[in-house]
Amino acid sequence: MQGGNGRDGGPIVVLDGVEKDYPLGKTTVHALRGVDLKLERGEFTVLAGPSGSGKTTVLNLIGCVDTATRGRVLVAGKDTKKMGETDRTKLRLDTLGFIFQSFNLIPVLDIYQNVEFPLLLQKGISKAERHKRVNDLIDRVGLRQHVKQRPGELSGGQRQRVAIARALVTRPAIILADEPTANLDSATGKQILDLMREMNKADNTTFLFSTHDAQVMTYAQRVVRIADGKIVDQGAALPPAAPNPHADLAATAH
Ligand code: ADP
Ligand code: MG
Repeated sequence: MQGGNGRDGGPIVVLDGVEKDYPLGKTTVHALRGVDLKLERGEFTVLAGPSGSGKTTVLNLIGCVDTATRGRVLVAGKDTKKMGETDRTKLRLDTLGFIFQSFNLIPVLDIYQNVEFPLLLQKGISKAERHKRVNDLIDRVGLRQHVKQRPGELSGGQRQRVAIARALVTRPAIILADEPTANLDSATGKQILDLMREMNKADNTTFLFSTHDAQVMTYAQRVVRIADGKIVDQGAALPPAAPNPHADLAATAH
């Protein structure tokens, strides 16, 4: 069945010969120079590259925040350029979740309200269902004691937990996270990556996050490397976990 949040069938993201030019005064910046990329559902992938290599541009194109100059961007099987603005907005709301380096929470809303916010933009979700989903995620990211607080009263790591809950509350097929740990110390950053990975495994939600930090890259299941607007290494999704070797031993032992 074709669900509204793009969770079924085929790769979740396909970039095909994608180029992006930005006009800059009288010149042009070639931010992306022919990017091909395929993300399967359930992947936990990092887009790794130095500052200025094109990471944010790739995430913005997948997130339908911007459009490619040339080439195709497919999300959940749909060509984002051929969609009308209404469908694009719906895709952003139903299929995509976003996590930002600077958290981007709404300062006047408390934590509960911040997590609830995207659900209020979706149609047909009852108050009871909203309540259930928001509370479930607040528990899962470990912020139960902080529901009534506002973002300004929380640490960076706690704010990023709120952002993770907010991104997941609509049950999107893919979460895009642009340098989600860049404003955190390394221990807190690791906790955030562990939490993202936990959510990835529990719900099979696809994650694509970017970083320029070599340490952060090691947490990904697949490392896609970008340099000067080109993918220089596609990485490889890890094969499914091997069967428990002890089970094998037990089976062959006499
Ligand atoms: P990264 O996220 O890896 O640091 P970006 O995707 O932000 O890289 O940028 C890629 C290149 O495109 C850089 O050279 C950057 O200066 C340029 N660029 C990004 N956005 C714009 C813009 N709006 N106008 C002009 N140039 C831009
Ligand atoms: Mg960037």
